[in-house]
Amino acid sequence: MTERYVSIVIVGARGRMGQALTRCVLESEDLTLVGAVDRSDSPGQGEDVARQCGLPDVGVRITDELRPPRSSVVVDFSLPGATDANVRRCLESGVPLVLGTTGIGPETRELLKSAGRDIPIVSAANFSVGITLLLQLAAKAARALGPDYEAEIFELHHRHKRDAPSGTALRIGKSIAEALDRDFDQVAVRSRDKTETQRTREEIGLAALRGGDSVGEHTVMFLGEGERLELVHRATDRGIFARGALRAARWVAAKPPGLYDMADVLGLA
Ligand code: NAD
Repeated sequence: MTERYVSIVIVGARGRMGQALTRCVLESEDLTLVGAVDRSDSPGQGEDVARQCGLPDVGVRITDELRPPRSSVVVDFSLPGATDANVRRCLESGVPLVLGTTGIGPETRELLKSAGRDIPIVSAANFSVGITLLLQLAAKAARALGPDYEAEIFELHHRHKRDAPSGTALRIGKSIAEALDRDFDQVAVRSRDKTETQRTREEIGLAALRGGDSVGEHTVMFLGEGERLELVHRATDRGIFARGALRAARWVAAKPPGLYDMADVLGLA
């Protein structure tokens, strides 16, 4: 098989994930960094993108305009307010998109669905291989344990995270709901503050904690009479998301239009 280079444009380049992605691309042997985009008022505008990682200049400056070259893949880890415009830019340029931004709303989801008819897109709330497996294990456990076991999801993230519960916790909840033939929006309980009723068997509880520098923890509990099953994932290095997203970028570069997730990339779908 012949090796081919994949050209990458990073959106949200100044952010925590943007920096992890920059480092991974520059350290890889089969990826080339061809663009770096961040908000016009971000402090590093116009600087070489490698500097923020303490690496020698690579000739790619951070700009505020997304203009992906034809044969590139856009990897976007920025903020939900930026997603629609970035998807449209990818559509206009006919380039694949790997979208990691979480907290996107239903309208943006619809836009992704329709854009997936023209360009290949991989969208995942969590690009780690471990979480992709956890989603499948949670669905399998829910099916095997059945309706007598009550599902609760707990997540912990660093103090800077804006959306709660995390996109990953919501995705886990959806995968349990689907396995049990329930409508997630009907059974999800995001807060028990001021609730005076007892939990129902069907509901799926979500609890979010914020603080410190935790990269991300997710625990799924299935609580039954006399036993409790817990599935736990702890991320200790955001490099796992960057490596997963770049694995998705290599994969999506050669795919037909479609809206894919990380399970497709790993061949688990
Ligand atoms: P961050 O706040 O450190 O970085 C976000 C960056 O995006 C900032 O540099 C900001 O200036 C930039 N930005 C904001 N608006 C922009 C715009 N219009 N155009 C271009 N750049 C813009 O956040 P982070 O921790 O790097 O996370 C970024 C996103 O990725 C969040 O939504 C987070 O939840 C998500 N995330 C996803 C995964 C995953 O595996 N899917 C993993 C970690 C984080």
